[in-house]
Amino acid sequence: MHEDLRRNNLAALVRHLHLSGPLTRSELAARTGLNRSTVGALVGELASVGLARESAPPPRGSTGRPSLLVSLAADRVWVLAVEIGPDAVAVARVGLGGAVHGSLAQRRARDEGLTPASAVATIGRLARKLMGRAPAGSQLVGAAVAVPGIVRRSDGFVHLAPNLLWHDVPLGSLLSSRLPGPPDVLVANEADLGALAECARGAAVGFRHVIYVSGNAGVGGGIVVEGSLLAGRSGYAGEVGHMKVNPDGHRCRCGGRGCWESEIGAVAVLRRASRRATDVQTAVAAVLSDARLGDPAALHAVRETGRWIGRGAANLINIFNPEVLVFGGALREVFLAAEPVVMRELRRQVLPQAGAEAAVVAAGLGAGSVLLGAAELALADFLVSPRAAVA
Ligand SMILES: [Zn+2]
Repeated sequence: MHEDLRRNNLAALVRHLHLSGPLTRSELAARTGLNRSTVGALVGELASVGLARESAPPPRGSTGRPSLLVSLAADRVWVLAVEIGPDAVAVARVGLGGAVHGSLAQRRARDEGLTPASAVATIGRLARKLMGRAPAGSQLVGAAVAVPGIVRRSDGFVHLAPNLLWHDVPLGSLLSSRLPGPPDVLVANEADLGALAECARGAAVGFRHVIYVSGNAGVGGGIVVEGSLLAGRSGYAGEVGHMKVNPDGHRCRCGGRGCWESEIGAVAVLRRASRRATDVQTAVAAVLSDARLGDPAALHAVRETGRWIGRGAANLINIFNPEVLVFGGALREVFLAAEPVVMRELRRQVLPQAGAEAAVVAAGLGAGSVLLGAAELALADFLVSPRAAVA
């Protein structure tokens, strides 16, 4: 019992430092509710295995003995975070506190296609390069992969990733046999991971009811209710991109018609601006830039897309009553370009009570939400039992 309590206290301490950055011993005591001598003993234990260090805080001119500043050693343990998208595979080595120690990406043209085998080979190659650069004595404690698709969380089985043209791919087991290190590579939906990161260290810090809408090639959602990701029975919940918003709309990659994704995704922006491109994200950025310069077709595309963003956002706010709705991925930039139109349409459609309570914002972590979210997932087991994980 006493041992369990000590382990939980140690985990709480690490979690506060991981999420808030360096804190003094007295701040740690205040946040954890532990007394200062207990905090001191726990910090000593973390320091003895190289997980934390203490330093004198910057002088503040007050009298009395200053409380020592405690920081986690960002590079003592680390995880591999992977993001698979239609245009690129990115791998990062991320330490405690979300410190990105290195990242590598392999870009490709969308029409080249990305098979599961080539994705696994690319991830293995990039991961081995990054692992080779890790400092001696540091330790890999987890790995997680973000996929733009419907993923079974228990074993990382990808049922469908429409924008990768993947069906029924046992990605978790393919990667676990390929990567050295932790026994299991976790796989999750990219928007769920974006939500996790925005809650931990982005635009949704401190909120317990959050919707993160991730828009790249496809559109996905991570829905946080009472501080926990809404998973549904098997982890498939939150496919907001396939919410039916327009019965007369275009056919979607999921096979349905009139999905939100078909109205607000990158392809919709390009369709409205009458542009075609193989590098879709660069082309969307060009539309946004042309709209800023007053190009009529680009302006039309931004405004019309903004109206559909507002309509879908109103539905989500009416259903979930969030405190904040966050737009991330490439959709972040489209939202910012169209914000006045989005908000006007949203106010027209949303129920007043839920609408008044919801802030609608761009992702605080920019394009990094998903990769940092994969790092948070990969670190989750370590954070529950930090002392047990280090050799
Ligand atoms: Zn669809």
